[in-house]
Amino acid sequence: MKIFVFFGPPGAGKGTQAKLLAQRYNFIHLSTGEILRSAIEKQTPLGQKAKEYIDSGELVPDDIIIGLIRNRLQNLEKESGILFDGFPRTLAQADAFDKLLQDMDEKISAVIYLKVPEEVVIERLVKRAQIEGRTDDTPEVVRKRILVYKEKTEPLLNFYKKTGLLYEVNGLGTIDEVNSRIRKIIERFV
Ligand code: AMP
Repeated sequence: MKIFVFFGPPGAGKGTQAKLLAQRYNFIHLSTGEILRSAIEKQTPLGQKAKEYIDSGELVPDDIIIGLIRNRLQNLEKESGILFDGFPRTLAQADAFDKLLQDMDEKISAVIYLKVPEEVVIERLVKRAQIEGRTDDTPEVVRKRILVYKEKTEPLLNFYKKTGLLYEVNGLGTIDEVNSRIRKIIERFV
């Protein structure tokens, strides 16, 4: 199984790109944010637990996220590939992820880091707020999410750099331009 992790700040384009590439390569797209939003909409116990964190721009606690991923991985047929979008977001999640994959005799192929400057991220999130109306795209929550990214998620860059799995991609430009940059990386593995 090919396993790709899409990494980057909120608004980097992880979701957009992961969706397009999952279609192209017939891979599973696994977005923890989407799973959580859908759980909130359906008012499941997971959704009830996650809502407050999401609406305030905080991360949902690691044990909830790791449980969710464990469950998804256990219930997956053998797929040709999975694109993880928005997971892992903390060192604890990255450690737990490694262990889960080890137990399945699998490993990450590449971590694709979409690099986008902070001003651009803010601009994109403000636009998305007008289009999608996500409850966590308000200016105040956007600021919080960027802070949380820097504090809890950005340290993972070093973690993955050390493992040699990190591929940096310029996230500026059109969706197509960024898409072809990412395809060049994925195609080394498929
Ligand atoms: P996203 O759609 O990836 O931007 O995620 C939206 C929100 O869902 C985040 O701001 C977090 O509150 C929550 N979330 C998504 N993925 C994770 C994760 N791996 N760990 C903790 N919280 C998450």
